[in-house]
Amino acid sequence: MERTLIIIKPDAFQKGATGKIIDRFIEEGFRILAMKLFRFSKEQAEKFYIVHKDRPFYSELVEFMTSGPVVACVLEGENAIKRVRDIIGPTDSEEARRVAPSSIRALFGTDKGKNAIHASDSKESADYEIPFIFSRLELVE
Ligand code: UDP
Repeated sequence: MERTLIIIKPDAFQKGATGKIIDRFIEEGFRILAMKLFRFSKEQAEKFYIVHKDRPFYSELVEFMTSGPVVACVLEGENAIKRVRDIIGPTDSEEARRVAPSSIRALFGTDKGKNAIHASDSKESADYEIPFIFSRLELVE
């Protein structure tokens, strides 16, 4: 069993896709261990995405992620990190529509910035991201 973090980004939340996205993960057999609606401050978003601090899109990403509310969930399942990454599709939603038309980014994202959803990309990322967003008390056992 493995745990991973997803964040429904401001674009997908704003267009009312939250329920459909969460339903997709339930249908795919994942268990929801935690869930929260909140809005990132600039400082929190900068720290959450600190691995990207030297990438050219960092400030744009922080601006986007603070532009409105998001919904974060911890999902549990076998091989959850890889399986969730497959379900969300490639970073660029336009590419996702070509190569993975039923992926979440293909269905609800716009481009390579506004791409509907975040998901941990490795065990190391999940181990940083889950406790960043959720306290132990907020995770069901
Ligand atoms: N991003 C962006 N421009 C780019 C690449 C990425 O705005 O050229 C944003 C996008 O929202 C992406 C996030 O930065 O989801 C993190 O990028 P990463 O390469 O880690 O993609 P992911 O792991 O989210 O697929």
